[in-house]
Amino acid sequence: MPAPLLQIETTPALPTSADAVVIGGGIVGVFAAYHLARRGLKVALVEKGRIGAEQSSRNWGWCRQQNRDARELPMATKSLSLWEDFAGETGEDTGFRRCGLLYLSDDESELAGWARWGDFARTVGVTTHMLDGAQASEKGAATGRRWKGGVVSPTDGTADPARAAPVVARAVMKLGGTVHQMCAARGLELEAGRVSGVVTEAGTIRTPIVVLSGGAWASSFCRQLGIRFPQASIRSSILSVAPGAEGLPAALHTAAVSATRRGDGGYTLAISGRARVDPTPQQIRFARHFVPMFARRWRSLAPGGFEGWKSGHETLQRWRLDEPTPMEFNRILDPRPDQTQIRLTLERARALLPALQKLPVSAAWAGYIDSTPDGVPAIGEISSLPGLVLAAGFSGHGFGIGPGAGHLVADLVTDEPPIVDPKPYHPDRLNGSAWGKVADF
Ligand SMILES: Cc1cc2nc3c(=O)[nH]c(=O)nc-3n(C[C@H](O)[C@H](O)[C@H](O)COP(=O)(O)OP(=O)(O)OC[C@H]3O[C@@H](n4cnc5c(N)ncnc54)[C@H](O)[C@@H]3O)c2cc1C
Repeated sequence: MPAPLLQIETTPALPTSADAVVIGGGIVGVFAAYHLARRGLKVALVEKGRIGAEQSSRNWGWCRQQNRDARELPMATKSLSLWEDFAGETGEDTGFRRCGLLYLSDDESELAGWARWGDFARTVGVTTHMLDGAQASEKGAATGRRWKGGVVSPTDGTADPARAAPVVARAVMKLGGTVHQMCAARGLELEAGRVSGVVTEAGTIRTPIVVLSGGAWASSFCRQLGIRFPQASIRSSILSVAPGAEGLPAALHTAAVSATRRGDGGYTLAISGRARVDPTPQQIRFARHFVPMFARRWRSLAPGGFEGWKSGHETLQRWRLDEPTPMEFNRILDPRPDQTQIRLTLERARALLPALQKLPVSAAWAGYIDSTPDGVPAIGEISSLPGLVLAAGFSGHGFGIGPGAGHLVADLVTDEPPIVDPKPYHPDRLNGSAWGKVADF
């Protein structure tokens, strides 16, 4: 029972040249292609499997400013408007709604943390309201119990992970861009020290600009070019239940379990932050960079198995461009969900929200969440390779900020004023110490 995903038809014939080629059709790649195409560039997007089939269809769908790290908050705020603009510009429905997010807690220190974040967020114009016990219990009436407090962020929302990336890809094609599924990029061609083309399994596209939005595969791709990109992924397991529950909040977070209404009226259920660490060659290589991140999150992480090793996304192998690569052997990264985690999530959700008790499970799946050492994405041109713009390492937040990330990529490529300050995202920062601030999840 994999994560639901809208299947779309894409462009059969690969162009021989393009103004820009986007590698990877997750939410970041499709929005980068969309914003480039809107500026009149001839864009080709290549996706080794299906549009949106990896992280971008496996997430909860939250598009939030609430509790965001200060470095990422401006992009989160802009992205909310861009989700709305996209619907207006194209008539396509990503399922985005400003339904508001509700957080409930009985833990004084957690509530104090949310209050501190709110004090900061209000200084930059974000709307967020702390709730006292009575207000939290009223907003959380579907739980049938009292709460010490909570927070609500009414201007945040959710989009539908089952359709968002595919409909944006469709909009790219309507703007004259081409989109190619089942087409892995194997590597780049260089001329005079800069990008001159993308070698794919279906042929070469000549181009001066490449956007690498390959999600969990980005670091192993960079390695082929001698570019060091510290990246690691963890396996998160979640499930959905069938429609039928009435009166629940659209998006609810508690420490025990979180619930999000899906586009089909069902609910996605998950335990926030909980994941397994599957050792891989790449993870061992970059382990020391991730010590601060893992030290901060160790309570929610558990050791996993070897499927990450076998799936090939974090290989240290060097591959040739004239024969199939690991990306062609694994079209869709579809790790096995952790059944213990799935059972626990369902049990907790049914205990928290009685309305879910009779609803059957409709699907259960896992996804590898790719992260940088500081939990902030890497977006920017690679200093040692002009023409290559990296946009990866979205650290569990990339769905909500996909529109802003895609816009920023287009700003950098076309040399327009950037939608947000690009400095906090530049990949060069990852060449320094990993002992800076690790972003919250
Ligand atoms: C369980 C879970 C819950 C989450 N919840 C949220 C949430 O509520 N809100 C939020 O904002 N974020 C959430 N996230 C994180 C979010 O899903 C990701 O940050 C985001 O989807 C990353 O998008 P992406 O485009 O960078 O990567 P992906 O969606 O992984 O896309 C990368 C694509 O690149 C393709 N690719 C890779 N290499 C190549 C190549 N060489 N050639 C061609 N194609 C290639 C892959 O096939 C893939 O389709 C969650 C993630 C998970 C797994």
